[in-house]
Amino acid sequence: MKKVAVIGYGGQGAWHCTQVLKSDVVSLKGVYDIKENRREAAKANGIFVYENNEAIFADGDVDIVVVATPNDVHEELVVNALKSGKNVICEKPVALSVESFDRMVQAAEKAGKVLSVHQNRRWDVDFLGVKKVISSGEIGDVIRIESRIHGSRGIPSDWRCEKEHGGGMILDWGVHLIDQMLQLITDKVTKVYCMNTHITNSQVDDGFRLELGFESGKTALVEVGTYNFLPLPRFYMQCKDGSLCLEDWQKKAHVAKLTAWIEKDVTPVQNAAGITKTMAPRDNLTLDEYYTEIPKSDVHDFYRNFVLASDGKAEQLIKNSEVRRVLRVMTACFESDEKGAVLKVDI
Ligand code: NAD
Repeated sequence: MKKVAVIGYGGQGAWHCTQVLKSDVVSLKGVYDIKENRREAAKANGIFVYENNEAIFADGDVDIVVVATPNDVHEELVVNALKSGKNVICEKPVALSVESFDRMVQAAEKAGKVLSVHQNRRWDVDFLGVKKVISSGEIGDVIRIESRIHGSRGIPSDWRCEKEHGGGMILDWGVHLIDQMLQLITDKVTKVYCMNTHITNSQVDDGFRLELGFESGKTALVEVGTYNFLPLPRFYMQCKDGSLCLEDWQKKAHVAKLTAWIEKDVTPVQNAAGITKTMAPRDNLTLDEYYTEIPKSDVHDFYRNFVLASDGKAEQLIKNSEVRRVLRVMTACFESDEKGAVLKVDI
């Protein structure tokens, strides 16, 4: 069992501790947090607390350091951990800029250690359900994917509200949804258009709408909202031979597969204050509707892969080149919002 020390015992640091305590490949050595109340909370949970971060770096027994602090201090902690000879798992978003991430990767290469980013939302079953439908080809090639999460509580009232700590929803949730989207549509990103919202916070974005254009002509929408009292579905996808709608995180995907494209005219239907042929619903002779099974997923696969990768026995599941692409898209989001323009990119 590889030994893990966690830096930052807040919400996510505590989550890592819980997972590590249940793991079949890693065990928990201890934690450190700059806040006394968080150190006390760790002790109360029976977890060993280090004197400071340097004591973690100096502990020859620690194989892996998990960095789970606010975003603005990731780089310093990650680089110091790598320099001290540890393999490092860093929380998302790994960095506030591409340049900062490049410095971390260089530090890992120099130290001959593994740096991986905890993009745990790759294990979300809603995302995996959509991915499975795409890879099965059952409704043909993707035309457009829309991925949304809608909350209604604004930004949590912590460092996420503040720009200097790397707050805002592009960095918080955008990083997950953009990462997922680039796994679903793997072509080159050629267009980025992003509009941020500031309904509850003027300093950082409390939501955003991102349109992505891909070299193949496919398009995607990534949307995060924190002021939506009625949420829109988590995923909506148009493909050449059908559509998919996935209402919520734990739900099955609803698929409508086109079985026949009838060319002949339909009888107009009466709806609302008029008639329409264009919007006349399809009959069930030309559509096959069904719900897919929810895929199986185990977040411990992240740690299992990390341990194998740090022993040189497997490729990292979360590749640093993928993380870098996501950071480039996020950088383009801020630029597009500021300029109010569609950016032509090569990402
Ligand atoms: P949090 O505020 O709950 O906890 C952060 C903790 O880090 C605080 O207790 C703080 O005192 C401590 N800290 C700050 N600077 C430190 C330092 N130099 N050394 C030691 N401790 C330090 O925040 P959180 O919600 O746990 O978020 C932490 C990180 O985890 C962020 O990067 C966030 O984006 C990420 N996160 C990831 C997920 C996910 O699903 N992957 C979920 C939530 C948060």
